[in-house]
Amino acid sequence: LVISDFFNFAEEMCNIFRETKEVRTGEVADYIPQLARVDPDKFGFSVCTVDGQSFNFGDAQELFCLQSSCKPINYCMVHDQLGEQKVHQHIGREPSGRSFNEMALNKDGLPHNPLINSGAIMSCALLKPELDMSDRFEHVLKTWEELSGGIRPSFNNSVYLSERKTADRNFALAYFMSESKAFPENTNLVDTLEFYFQCCSIEVTASAMANAASTLANGGMQPQTGQQIFDPNTVKNCLSLMNSCGMYDFSGEFAFTIGFPAKSGVSGALLIVIPNVMGIAIWSPRLDQHGNSVRGVEFCKKLTERFNFHNYDNL
Ligand code: GLU
Repeated sequence: LVISDFFNFAEEMCNIFRETKEVRTGEVADYIPQLARVDPDKFGFSVCTVDGQSFNFGDAQELFCLQSSCKPINYCMVHDQLGEQKVHQHIGREPSGRSFNEMALNKDGLPHNPLINSGAIMSCALLKPELDMSDRFEHVLKTWEELSGGIRPSFNNSVYLSERKTADRNFALAYFMSESKAFPENTNLVDTLEFYFQCCSIEVTASAMANAASTLANGGMQPQTGQQIFDPNTVKNCLSLMNSCGMYDFSGEFAFTIGFPAKSGVSGALLIVIPNVMGIAIWSPRLDQHGNSVRGVEFCKKLTERFNFHNYDNL
């Protein structure tokens, strides 16, 4: 067993959960009404180890939207499909040092990395473009289902409609990339953007997301089903990017002080990977000024204080 005394471990995690629950600072995202209406006090937490041991606390069975936490998975999908070289002909792999929706491309006119909006829009353009939109979306849902060990995700159509209605910046980013010829030929920009908003509007529970995160912790093999979902090299590249670019403008600080790969979303989602040990999902909607879940970051700080989970901890 990767964690031999699982009972004690779970108890320690439960303590951190209770301490973190006291934190009530931050504000829920309000750029669309559907997110502004979410109960700010919700708090779900779930763990799944690479050998399939798991536990849940709080609101771990309630649905929330993926938002930006769809980005690493879409990247893995296109990476598996096209290989490292082809993907990175269209997307960089450098932190941008700018906000997630900044109108900025790298010196080659490409998105800086797949975990900011421009890069995530590009991943959507690259994802099985030969298929119908319905089959492309089904492919994403199916992948989340497999990553979660068979839990079918949900879809929040109201969030999707709102995202699409308030999408000026994302449209601007797409046209900006189109101007610099970053997309493959024949890319339909409207289809691509709608696909991106749909991916952001997929809903999962913390429990399902922790299972997905554990698949990334386990080199792409789902611990509960034994299915190899992504190539290990794909996962390695994805974790490198989550480590350097996963936490918006707090990514450098997070890598320095906390030191494990994670990806946040404005719904308050946080997908965490402790490589070769476990996946963790946290959902708590109040966000800090960077757009990261306040309790999520707080939880990670406590986690790294109490366990040797920092990448460069001396074991
Ligand atoms: N739907 C949001 C956008 O594209 C996602 C933002 C996020 O979670 O970072 O603006």
